[in-house]
Amino acid sequence: MEPIDVLKQYFGYTSFRPGQDEVITTLLSGRDCLAIMPTGAGKSICFQIPALLMPGVTLIISPLISLMKDQVDALVNQHIPATYINSQCTFEESKQRYAAIRAGRVRIVYVSPERLQNAFFSGVMKSLRLSMVVVDEAHCVSQWGHDFRPSYCAIKDWVATLPQRPVMGAFTATATEKVKKDMMDLLGLQRERIFIGGFDRPNLYFRIVRHGDKMNFILSYLHEHKDDSGIIYGATRKEVDKVYMELKRRGIRAGRYHAGLSDETRRQAQEDFTYDKLDIIVATNAFGMGIDKSNVRFIIHVQMPKNIESYYQEAGRAGRDGAPGECILLYSRQDIMIQRFLIENSVHDPEQQAIEMRMLNRMVEYCEGTHCLRHYILTYFGEHPQWQRCENCGNCDQEVVQEDRTKEARLICLCVDELKGRFGMTMVCDILKGSNNAKIRKYNFQHQSAFGMLGDFSTGEIRDMVRACVDDGYLQQSEGQYPVVALTAAGRDMMAGQGRVVQKRLVEEEQDVQTKKRKNHSTVAADDALRPLFDALRAVRYDMAKEEHIPPFVIFSDATLWEMAAQKPATLDDMANIKGVGNFKLNKYGKQFVQAICSFEQ
Ligand code: ADP
Repeated sequence: MEPIDVLKQYFGYTSFRPGQDEVITTLLSGRDCLAIMPTGAGKSICFQIPALLMPGVTLIISPLISLMKDQVDALVNQHIPATYINSQCTFEESKQRYAAIRAGRVRIVYVSPERLQNAFFSGVMKSLRLSMVVVDEAHCVSQWGHDFRPSYCAIKDWVATLPQRPVMGAFTATATEKVKKDMMDLLGLQRERIFIGGFDRPNLYFRIVRHGDKMNFILSYLHEHKDDSGIIYGATRKEVDKVYMELKRRGIRAGRYHAGLSDETRRQAQEDFTYDKLDIIVATNAFGMGIDKSNVRFIIHVQMPKNIESYYQEAGRAGRDGAPGECILLYSRQDIMIQRFLIENSVHDPEQQAIEMRMLNRMVEYCEGTHCLRHYILTYFGEHPQWQRCENCGNCDQEVVQEDRTKEARLICLCVDELKGRFGMTMVCDILKGSNNAKIRKYNFQHQSAFGMLGDFSTGEIRDMVRACVDDGYLQQSEGQYPVVALTAAGRDMMAGQGRVVQKRLVEEEQDVQTKKRKNHSTVAADDALRPLFDALRAVRYDMAKEEHIPPFVIFSDATLWEMAAQKPATLDDMANIKGVGNFKLNKYGKQFVQAICSFEQ
């Protein structure tokens, strides 16, 4: 069988996503592989297909034992012989599983890195034909990664004790240079090929909401998106508790997840969310790695996260099935203070702190600029899009007006010049606004010539103008923990009367809570007219999943249900042509969905 046949038969997809076939071919040719692909790109298939095509057993090392059951259930549900061994297995279960592995009845085995230290387990692995070792979430090997796990460092030595070296695959969504180097060195990859997947997620719509009450936005948004699965991220436990309580008070099916709750409470919340018993989960970034739910339709950040890496990883949990997803960041300037505080109190190495502050500054830039949001993210990750605007994000969809700001820009430069590059943007804005705060009084800045000169503008507007002066090169902002602004040569010329300054400004819409469908770049037909049938199919899926004790998306993804709703397959043959319906699932579930479609049509 060829990889594409396995894809069709077991997974029900007709074509590979970008990068998948290259990774699969490389592993099958016996070469190690490091694959860096964004969340939702479809990494699992990249190692599951070779595992089915290679002789013997593939070992998958994955950091979270809480996830293994779901991952294995999903595979078994596709007729793929997989199992897991971890501390949650009873003695009897482990015995049976080892026996099945030894007898060649299992092709894929999931374990945590700690399991490699177990002598019995290692003995069994050495006695088998172990064709491939896959390290999932491979960035855990690096102290520079965000989920460092010391036990990942022992993988290399363990592999060296095997009688024959298996081919190794390492997978992650973290792309920074330091982590990349660590993954290659510390996992002992050999002659590896590196794949860096395209970071674009065309089915996701990115948006920033800069004004208005955040809680009101959330409530109206949830009202408009009843029954959809979504995650609401807060930066602190306190914020998470606040939002959660408010949602509960209003009878919304929400759970919460943060490090202050017991393991059991967290596990239960995650499970209820995965099984669609909860629509919403309100969480800190502790709710993260390994959320394997493919039908998350929206991610709302109540506060700005600390860097673009975290943001894109969290936001990327929307729309993993390829159906449309929305990623909304509710931004306020206060978020910067919170993140600064968190960095100062959690990172003690000054060099590392400076790095984190720089990353935070880029995050702020993302939130405050008028640029295309997708372009900004892709460039941040080192890509060079051939276009400037995606025409499919909040900023591209907002009206931009061009205004002559020559007078204001000169005043801004005057103010910065008088401060001699010793202060940051906030002080500049406060002076121009004419604020009467303690800091201004402390430095006697109420006597500066620019004091209050832009008093008719709001602080936000002044800030936008100052930022635009930085973007246009009239001012420069230093890196580091407390960036200061200084005048450039171009700024000095402009102050002296050269040229006109035209700045762009976004015309803020009302707090629009409708999902943006104007330009739906997803390949999936999530059409409002099809919603009733989609909902009916979703109900069938929910009941079946409940009976089988598996998460609903394991039966079929939202994308597959949308396609069924659009194509309305009336026979099993028609059903076989729907993306995501493989042979095994066709036999197992096809009939019930065909029936549901036919009875809905009548
Ligand atoms: P990642 O681990 O990279 O975040 P997953 O492996 O969980 O992503 O895959 C995300 C979703 O994409 C899953 O629902 C998966 O079934 C789907 N998927 C993967 N490959 C394809 C493909 N070639 N065509 C359509 N859907 C795919």
